[in-house]
Amino acid sequence: MRFSQLLANTWREDPAEAEIPSHRLMFRAGLMRKLASGIYTFLPLGWRVIRKVEEIIREEMDAAGAQELLLPIVQPAELWEETGRWAEYGEEMWRLQDRHGRRFCLGPTHEEVITDLVRQEVSSYRQLPLILYQIQNKYRDEIRPRFGVMRAREFIMKDAYSFHRDEACLQKTYERMCEAYSRIFSRLGLDFQVVEADPGAIGGYRTHEFMVLARVGEALLLLCRSCGYAANAERAEARPPEPLPAGEVPPPERFPTPGVRTIEELSRFTGRDPREMAKILFLRVLFRDGREETVAALLRGDRELNPVKLKNALGALAVEKAPPSLVGELGLPLGSAGPVGFGGFLVADPEVMAQDEVITGANEEGYHLLHVRPGRDFSPSLTADIRAVEPGDPCPRCGSPLEGTRGIEVGQVFQLGTKYSEAMGATFLDEEGRARPLVMGCYGIGVTRTVGAIIEQHHDGEGIIWPVSAAPYTFAIVPVNVEEEREREVAEKIYAAMSEAGLEVLLDDRSVRAGVKFKDADLIGFPYRITVGSRSLAQGKVEVRRRRDGEVLAVSPDRVVEVAQDLLARRW
Ligand code: ATP
Ligand code: MG
Repeated sequence: MRFSQLLANTWREDPAEAEIPSHRLMFRAGLMRKLASGIYTFLPLGWRVIRKVEEIIREEMDAAGAQELLLPIVQPAELWEETGRWAEYGEEMWRLQDRHGRRFCLGPTHEEVITDLVRQEVSSYRQLPLILYQIQNKYRDEIRPRFGVMRAREFIMKDAYSFHRDEACLQKTYERMCEAYSRIFSRLGLDFQVVEADPGAIGGYRTHEFMVLARVGEALLLLCRSCGYAANAERAEARPPEPLPAGEVPPPERFPTPGVRTIEELSRFTGRDPREMAKILFLRVLFRDGREETVAALLRGDRELNPVKLKNALGALAVEKAPPSLVGELGLPLGSAGPVGFGGFLVADPEVMAQDEVITGANEEGYHLLHVRPGRDFSPSLTADIRAVEPGDPCPRCGSPLEGTRGIEVGQVFQLGTKYSEAMGATFLDEEGRARPLVMGCYGIGVTRTVGAIIEQHHDGEGIIWPVSAAPYTFAIVPVNVEEEREREVAEKIYAAMSEAGLEVLLDDRSVRAGVKFKDADLIGFPYRITVGSRSLAQGKVEVRRRRDGEVLAVSPDRVVEVAQDLLARRW
C-alpha cells in the first residue's frame, strides 16, 4: 500500500472528548471516526487491525474444534420471550418493529437464536458435542457509552456456543475454550488475568472473565499473589473472620446520639472504630416474578455492600438503594435504624455475625445501642456474604492479603447448563432414546474492545506500538525526501521486493517533510520503519528501526527482505 493513496488522516492534537489513551490514539492515528455516541466507522488502518485480531481468533477457534457460522443480527421478540429475557434484558436492548408492528431487537448476544437453530438441527447424541461461533456486530444501548471501542453501542464480538450431552463434556470444552482464549490473548501481546466472575444477565453457574491489566480498566480485580486466586470485585470473596470467643456481653444499652446519622459521625461521637459498629442499609429488590420488596442489609461499619452478591443471595433480578421515603414508610429513622426489633427481611453479612458485640442504631431518632450481640439480640432472616471485598482483605483460599488491580474485560466464558435448552425445549435423544435437555456453554470475546486493550498496553508518548500480530502493516518504508531520485528509486525497489515476498508493507510516498512522516509512523505504530535517506545510502545502507525501543539496524537495500523475514522469525 502507498500512503499517498491511503485514507488515513492523522491528527496532531488530542480530541477533547477522548479520555483514555486508546480512544485518543484510535482517532489520532486515523483508525476510526465517530458517527454517533458509541457508534464508530473503522477506517482502512483500523479495519486491518480488526481483521488481524479476527483471524487469530478464527485460527484458535477452528483449532479448538469450533465451526464458524453467521446468525442474523435482527432477532424476533418471541424467541426472547421463551426464556423470559425480553422483559429481563432491560433498556440495553435495542428494540424495533417491522412495518406490521412485529417486535424485534438488534442482537445484544445470541443464546436464544443459536438455541433455536440447534433445537431444529440437532436431535441425537451422535451430533454432540457441537461448538459454533460467529464474529459479528452486537448492539447494546449502553447507558454510558464511553472510552471509544471499550464501551460502544455497536461493537464486534466473537460469540461461541457449545452443546453437550452432559456436564463432564461441557467441562472439557470449557477448559479447551479457556486455553484457546489464553492463546489468542497471548498472541496479541496482552498481559491478562483470568478471573472468577458473576454470571449476570446471561445466567448459568460458572464463569470466568479474561481481563487485560490496565489502569483505565473499568473492572476492579482482586488477586492473590500467593495462591493465584483471582476474581472480579463483583464476585470476590474474602476469608471470613473466626468468630470471637464468646465473652460476657451485657444487655444492649440505649444511649443518646443527637444529630448523628452516619457511621463516620457515630465513630467521631463515640470515639470507637467503625469496625465495632454494624450498619444497616435499605434496598429495593426486584424479583423475577415482578414482586418488589424493601430488604435491609447489615454490614460491619467499615464495609461497603456488594449489590451483586446481595442480588444473588436473594435470587433477585435487581437491587437498588431504597429511596428515603420508602424507609420512612417502614417507620424507621434513617440515621438511627438498626437490626434490633427490625421486623422486615434482614440479610446479615457473616462478618457482623462473627462479632461478639456491635454498636447499632436503636430504631429511635437520635439513639443508638451499645452491647448488641448478634444472634442474641437479633436474628437475621438470612446470613450471606454480601460485602465488597477490598484490597488487603484475606484471600478466601489461603488467607494472604488480596491485591487490587484494574482490568479491561476482553472476554468471558460461561457454563450455562440447561438454562436455555430447558426454557426453549432444546433436547437430544440419548443412547436409550430418551429426550434430554442439551447442556450448554457460551464464550464471548469483544473484538473491538480487544483492539483498544492492545493499545492501552502498547503505546508511548508518540503513539501506538503494535505487536506484529495486530499491526495494520508490519513495515513502513519512509524515503526521507521523495524529490531525491535515488532515495525514491531505492524505496520503490525495497517496496516491490517486500510486497513480492508477502511482507505487509506500507510505502510512505507522500511528498511531505521527513519529520511529518516519522511522526505519523510512530503515531500509527508500525512495528518497524525502514528509513531510506541520502546519508546512509552514501554508505550503501538503509536503516531498519524498531518502534518498540528505537533500536536501529543498518542494512544494505538488497538484504532488506532477508533481514525483515529474519526479524519476524526471531521476533526481534
Ligand atoms: P461489560 O461487563 O463490560 O458490560 P458484558 O459482561 O456485558 O460486558 P458479555 O456479554 O460478556 O459482556 O460480552 C462478551 C464480550 O463483549 C465482553 O467480554 C466484552 O469484551 C465485549 N463487550 C461487551 N459489551 C461491550 C461494549 N458495550 N462495547 C464493546 N465491547 C463490549
Ligand atoms: Mg461479560
